[in-house]
Amino acid sequence: MRHFSPIKGQMMAEQVSLATVAAEVGTPAYVYSAATFTRHYKVFARAVSSMDSLIAYSVKANSNQAVLSLLAKLGSGADVVSGGELARALAAGIAADKIIFSGVGKSAEEMRAGLEAGIAPFNIESMPELQQLNAIALDMGKTAPVAVRINPNVCAGTHEKICTGRAENKFGIDIADVDAVFERAQDMQGVRLRGIAMHIGSQIDSLAPFASAITLAAGLIERLRKQGHKIETFDIGGGLGISYAGGDTTPPSPKEYGDLVRRLTQDLDVRMIFEPGRMIAGNAGVLLAKVLYVKHGGARNFLIIDAAMNDLIRPALYDAYHDIEPVNASAADADQKTKMISYDVVGPICESGDTFTQHRMLPEMQAGDLIVLHTAGAYGAVQASQYNSRPLIPEVLVKDDKYAVVRKRPNIEDVLKTEHVPDWV
Ligand SMILES: *Cc1c(COP(=O)(O)O)cnc(C)c1O
Repeated sequence: MRHFSPIKGQMMAEQVSLATVAAEVGTPAYVYSAATFTRHYKVFARAVSSMDSLIAYSVKANSNQAVLSLLAKLGSGADVVSGGELARALAAGIAADKIIFSGVGKSAEEMRAGLEAGIAPFNIESMPELQQLNAIALDMGKTAPVAVRINPNVCAGTHEKICTGRAENKFGIDIADVDAVFERAQDMQGVRLRGIAMHIGSQIDSLAPFASAITLAAGLIERLRKQGHKIETFDIGGGLGISYAGGDTTPPSPKEYGDLVRRLTQDLDVRMIFEPGRMIAGNAGVLLAKVLYVKHGGARNFLIIDAAMNDLIRPALYDAYHDIEPVNASAADADQKTKMISYDVVGPICESGDTFTQHRMLPEMQAGDLIVLHTAGAYGAVQASQYNSRPLIPEVLVKDDKYAVVRKRPNIEDVLKTEHVPDWV
């Protein structure tokens, strides 16, 4: 069931008309569906339910407090990659012992905050990082629970900017070096190594890379145990791809993914940790925007909309595909009278990269029409910037027939107040 679909020609988010949201909140805005977040979480939980497991939602996909609170109530843990995300997860009511701290460059302050909160575990990615964590834990009189993030040298076959599992990527510790890390950690009183972690990339659209990486890691776990090390958790990260509809990917279902993981890990006797991000949040949000101008230039038709690459950078950064639909679809009814036009959909920013799509066939549109870019719930609002001095756009959460602004739009005065002109200028 889709929670962003038209009723009587009007695009809805659950039972709320997007035209109403646009009129009351303004555009551009992100609009999320609580029902979709809930359904995705439950589908994933069911897919892994036969395993002893923890689902640690990857906060960086969508870190709005309302979203995190919703997921916390469903029982989700959190995978965080910064002190800021740690604070968000705790503030949203996610129990500290369900919080995993990932990331290749944790600062001393971030380690202290994690130890203070009592999170479990830190996924460490280098020997110097482990040494620093050990020193800080000793200083605080604590023992840090640790998993070692390995680099399985598996290419996830995804966009190069979101492939993280190859040897030349900055992530993880080479599998061949992991034994030595466990060995040296035996002399460190501030850390307790009890797990293996990995995360090989994002928007992965086949099971093969997962299978290769899990098989390698399973071999490593057996080898470490033979050396006398205790391995209690196996964190396989996130990365399961989703459908961007008109895009050309058909990723495996959560059930196929869960079945594969169970088959490859059932004899390991470990607690599994999953860190889904995009799978939970991607299709739970749209970017709602308004057509400012229709410009006919050269051989092209441009739809100039009020959203831009600073609001949603995925097309510019990853060549990402987003389905685009008019909010008022009456013009696009099945009466075949709708004129379809090839448009380049672009934002107002002074860069050619500020292009959401080129040569997209869409119903003919006019200035003032509203459109949605689908599948914008993950890596959308969280990657927004204020480039071109465009303040961050609001986020709206819908549930059934009600909605709330869950992050308000700052005005430019708020933004200017954060800056200071020294009197010596
Ligand atoms: C980004 C990230 C995830 C989530 O990836 P998705 O592709 O959104 O599922 C999980 N774990 C780590 C360590 C990450 O960096």
